[in-house]
Amino acid sequence: MSADLFCEIIAGERPAHIVHSDEVAVSFLDVRPVFKGHVLVVPRVHVETLADLADVGPFFERVQAIARAVEEGLQAGGTFVAMNNRISQSVPHLHVHVVPRHKKDGLRGFFWPRTTYDSAEEAQSYADLIGKAL
Ligand SMILES: [Zn+2]
Repeated sequence: MSADLFCEIIAGERPAHIVHSDEVAVSFLDVRPVFKGHVLVVPRVHVETLADLADVGPFFERVQAIARAVEEGLQAGGTFVAMNNRISQSVPHLHVHVVPRHKKDGLRGFFWPRTTYDSAEEAQSYADLIGKAL
């Protein structure tokens, strides 16, 4: 079994500010938050990426509940919910970031730099390539 940081938190071997824990997922504060109240939701089962997660439904129900709770509990205007898979993934254990957002909080988006499609045809070709893979 991989001894990554999140498996250690799940096993209770590493301290964390636990927000919620059940048989499916453990949610705790990111130690280096984008904004205070930034929660990581991790599946209890060790998987590295979204593609590896067998039963996505129950896990994303927890993500949804945390996103609601962050908004309500912190009186946030909204949330940013995101996941890195392999690239820019700091810990090789699937985790969803739930970040509280407020108007004028200064966050201009994670997905810089943005680009544009050269044409509608090019855009459609990307849509088709992804669609065919479903
Ligand atoms: Zn793990």
